[in-house]
Amino acid sequence: MKAVYVEDAYKVVVKEVDIPELAPNEVLIKVAAAGICGSDIHTYKGLHPFRKPPVIIGHEVAGEIVSVGAAVTKFQVGDRVTVEPQTGCGSCEYCLRGQTNYCGTRGAPGIGGWYGTMAEYFAAPEPTVFKLPDGMSYDVGVLVEPFAVGVHAVRKAGIEVGDKVAVLGAGPIGLLAMAAAKAAGATTTFVSDVMDYALDTASAMGATHTMNIMNVENWTQQAKELVGGEFDKVLIAAGVPGIIDQSLQLLRKGGRVVTIAMFHGTQTFDIHNLQNQEKEIVGCMTYTRADTLTAIDMLAAGAVNHEALISHKLSYEDAAEGFRLVDKKEDRSMKVLVTFA
Ligand SMILES: [Zn+2]
Ligand SMILES: [Zn+2]
Repeated sequence: MKAVYVEDAYKVVVKEVDIPELAPNEVLIKVAAAGICGSDIHTYKGLHPFRKPPVIIGHEVAGEIVSVGAAVTKFQVGDRVTVEPQTGCGSCEYCLRGQTNYCGTRGAPGIGGWYGTMAEYFAAPEPTVFKLPDGMSYDVGVLVEPFAVGVHAVRKAGIEVGDKVAVLGAGPIGLLAMAAAKAAGATTTFVSDVMDYALDTASAMGATHTMNIMNVENWTQQAKELVGGEFDKVLIAAGVPGIIDQSLQLLRKGGRVVTIAMFHGTQTFDIHNLQNQEKEIVGCMTYTRADTLTAIDMLAAGAVNHEALISHKLSYEDAAEGFRLVDKKEDRSMKVLVTFA
């Protein structure tokens, strides 16, 4: 089969590899589409903490089951599916509580022997596989995984009906988190970024306010004036220096910041602005099965304007161009899908 490799930093190539052999509990999926994720770009740049080149890239996927292992009971050939791309050991205290994302031996595509999703075929263990609802396209099915990140972040933030929410960073994850916040009842959804086209996408996806903060001094003050008050919750979807301080400036007393973005290196912030105002900073790592199920339901209910978010659909032969577009933010690239016809 053809598979898209990040062979070295900034080097994406298509290679011929054997179709993965199925373990008894696995299904084989003929991939229709795989998404390029921000974390794939970290791998592309050679910066990802644990997913290193050379690797078959990708963890977002939708496609059709073409064969099932002997022990598989819930799926059959022809099922249209997506995958929650993480596995736990199944027996630690976290796994037993359904918190696969906390498992100390968490597995994911592109790590160990598990191939990435950006290939003609992708093998996945049965418990990680989810049927797509009737009528849900593969394009939308690919969004289940990144949307589950947003759903999880919204849950970690404790977003409630009527909340004022700021999302810092208008990449696909930020915008999917914004959509999840809206679906959870947030009535003010402010999005900041430094690219106008990304903010246009934010508006198309339902953001109530946007701000290009490039070279804007004291933008946190302006943001609060724009929405008429302080924010209840802030979701950080851009791991840039200074952003934790800015988040705390946006927040009301007792408010909560959730960090979704991957940061590089140690971050510093003014702890006074946290301590005496009882603000919280909460981490956020992938999702749980419950988040994935919620993401599927919300997508089926139309919570995400996927047409606004998906900027490009490229054949796997042009995957290198897709990575370049996302990395350079060229050609108004937002979510880029790689397809296997
Ligand atoms: Zn992703
Ligand atoms: Zn475990």
